[in-house]
Amino acid sequence: MTPCGALELGGTKARYALVTADGEITGPIVVLPTATPDVTLPKVREYFASHGVGHVGIASFGPLDLPSHIIAPGTKPGWGGCDLGSYLSEFERTLVTDVDGAAIAEREKRGCESLAYITVGTGVGVGLSRRNEGARTWHAELGHIKLAGDAAGHCSYHGGCVEGLISGPALRARIDGDPAKLKNDDPIWKSVAEQLGRLIATITFAYGVRDIVIGGGVLEGRAFLRETSKIAADVELAAFRPTPRVSAPRFEHSGLQGAAILAKQSLEKGR
Ligand SMILES: [Zn+2]
Repeated sequence: MTPCGALELGGTKARYALVTADGEITGPIVVLPTATPDVTLPKVREYFASHGVGHVGIASFGPLDLPSHIIAPGTKPGWGGCDLGSYLSEFERTLVTDVDGAAIAEREKRGCESLAYITVGTGVGVGLSRRNEGARTWHAELGHIKLAGDAAGHCSYHGGCVEGLISGPALRARIDGDPAKLKNDDPIWKSVAEQLGRLIATITFAYGVRDIVIGGGVLEGRAFLRETSKIAADVELAAFRPTPRVSAPRFEHSGLQGAAILAKQSLEKGR
């Protein structure tokens, strides 16, 4: 019997694992493609049920309607309107977005008061966590904010929002090639850092966080982007507010780790 389970439902892969009463991931992390709800979710349910899991923390791609546990329309094809509760009804569930899950894990790891987690990959997402806050009934979508005037971009909803300018697919469209092959001194990275700097400043103005973690596939092999983004944020903030510390994720799968923490908290509440 393992009391808890953690599920990270990503845009391309679902990861799940058993979790001890202390919130530690135990045993293997199972990885499946995020196919369709009818293919992927029954496998997750079976695995948790066969191990006697009672509480499940879920960190999922969004947008999400958090009070109803329904994935919003207009997201990954096949998943819009998916009621996660109907597939995982036998478990106590705590649901957050994948990036909020990542923020929870990275904040707990650092022991800091407040933290934002920015991911720059297939999309751009921003997660937020404060100490003692627990799971919220709302989440932000700051990856879709427009920070660059009328710049043309590649988001199907907003054109030149942050995601439409600097996500992996947006970079691919901008250069008409593979961004992984670009050199580190390519001028495009300056524009990526400027967008990230504006995003860091916006998060600081709105939430006053002192720590920001930046992860995601676009940052792989581009650690310099964290420093150049911080410098760009210094310019935006202009000493009006201190620029947050900017660092790399400390977990390989921060979202899954956050889901494990939520499952543990749910177990503790139920006791
Ligand atoms: Zn957008």
